[in-house]
Amino acid sequence: MPDIIERLRQELGSKSVLTRDDAALEDYGVDESGLGPYPADCAALCETAEQVDIVLALANDTNTPVTPRGAGSGKVGGALPIRGGIVLSTERMQSIIEINEDDLVAVVQPGVITGDLQTAVEAQGLFYPPDPASLEYCSIGGNAAANAGGPRAFKYGVTREYILGMEVSLMSQERLRFGRRTSKGVTGYDMVAGFVGSEGTFGVSTELTLRLLPKPPAVQTLLAIFPTLADAGTAIGSLLKDGFRPRTMELMDKTAIDTVREMNGSPIPPGTDAAALIEIDGLEEGLDEALMRMGMSIDEAGATDVLVAQNDLERRRLWQARRLVSSSLTAACRHKVSEDICVPRGKMIEMIRRVESLGDEFPFAVACYGHAGDGNLHVNILCDEDPTQPEVERQLEAVTRKLFEHTMALRGTLSGEHGIGLTKRDYMPMEQGPALLAWQRKWKAMWDPKDLLNPGKVLPLVPRTCNE
Ligand SMILES: Cc1cc2nc3c(=O)[nH]c(=O)nc-3n(C[C@H](O)[C@H](O)[C@H](O)COP(=O)(O)OP(=O)(O)OC[C@H]3O[C@@H](n4cnc5c(N)ncnc54)[C@H](O)[C@@H]3O)c2cc1C
Repeated sequence: MPDIIERLRQELGSKSVLTRDDAALEDYGVDESGLGPYPADCAALCETAEQVDIVLALANDTNTPVTPRGAGSGKVGGALPIRGGIVLSTERMQSIIEINEDDLVAVVQPGVITGDLQTAVEAQGLFYPPDPASLEYCSIGGNAAANAGGPRAFKYGVTREYILGMEVSLMSQERLRFGRRTSKGVTGYDMVAGFVGSEGTFGVSTELTLRLLPKPPAVQTLLAIFPTLADAGTAIGSLLKDGFRPRTMELMDKTAIDTVREMNGSPIPPGTDAAALIEIDGLEEGLDEALMRMGMSIDEAGATDVLVAQNDLERRRLWQARRLVSSSLTAACRHKVSEDICVPRGKMIEMIRRVESLGDEFPFAVACYGHAGDGNLHVNILCDEDPTQPEVERQLEAVTRKLFEHTMALRGTLSGEHGIGLTKRDYMPMEQGPALLAWQRKWKAMWDPKDLLNPGKVLPLVPRTCNE
């Protein structure tokens, strides 16, 4: 490793390479999954695509594992250097290269923070819809690698829908540009679709061309309060049947609501058992009327109260209460297992019932919130015991497996938006059969034949024979 570090210093400059002599390197061995730390040997803080090329070439030539990293906000351990080696960070690649209102595109480096991009495009009357709750600190490169979703995905879709083109540095010492800048295009295979969501295991994105929309002129937000989470789910189902298409429909259960209040304060009234945060957008004219009709529809569907945000400040405070759920739950217990299963929309009420039954069956509190319009539920298992104790570890494994069994029984999927990474890798066979996994291994091997780029992620490990 010393030779590799020396070469990296020569190529990138010594201020762009962290080693085990630097305390700051520790930050590159953890992310928001709560796993680790997994110590890297060094971190290369790249600023240009050429530097990314150099790091990947060096890793390939020296058979050194290399793990791409954006802002490290991932929840499934995707950016953890589980085999040591180099962490390739894109956090310094922060340039918004272009915002073009005629073409409705933005071109950015991967380290641009999602919220910063949104602010920049909105200042020009444009709109970049993907809004992971982590948008204040996650990066576009990480969003593309994880195919991040967010509350607005119900109306606007996930990150994949907004990546038109990519430039990607490969282990083969090539840098490819693919995709397009046009709003339509079907030339050749859809390489963008293959790379988005590949969790940094195929290549490292060095530039992204993003689709923008005109900014919706008006937005209205309401909070509906329900006796139970299942009632909230039922009301949301009936809203859709009534023809409404809100841009967000976020559910929160009592544990989630109360924990935010305890840890950070909350505008949601005390005693609320379940709430839905619903937002509509569109032209100014007619939006108030649409909101009123929606409020009545929610009332009829069993809401005990409907509160409408009167101004931007109230809107922001309601959203803050939603965005703080994950971090508040993390702070409130000793250990949290956080899953983001997704079920077909029609099965959401049944899934909520099954999730609630886990709290009776296992010795853990369960908090549930999520993007109800998409059937994407964030299920959090809250544990106050030491998770490394064998019995606690066994129970945590059992409750997670049970959750996934329920999800599979309802024809859902293991992850709606966080990805598979390390935490869900070994559960993949619950959803995908051996042939499908084998084809995906071939696909990975095509881009990274030596298995050096973010090794050990997404696909379950193949058992080795005793001669290997
Ligand atoms: C409080 C909280 C709320 C969250 N809410 C949401 C949510 O609403 N929706 C959602 O989808 N996610 C959410 N997340 C998860 C996380 O923020 C997203 O997965 C995000 O996309 C990760 O971006 P990042 O820049 O932090 O990437 P990292 O965590 O650094 O990396 C994530 C993955 O991307 C790869 N990667 C990073 N950059 C590149 C690159 N340039 N090229 C190739 N691969 C790369 C890494 O190897 C890793 O596999 C949340 C996380 C937290 C902590």
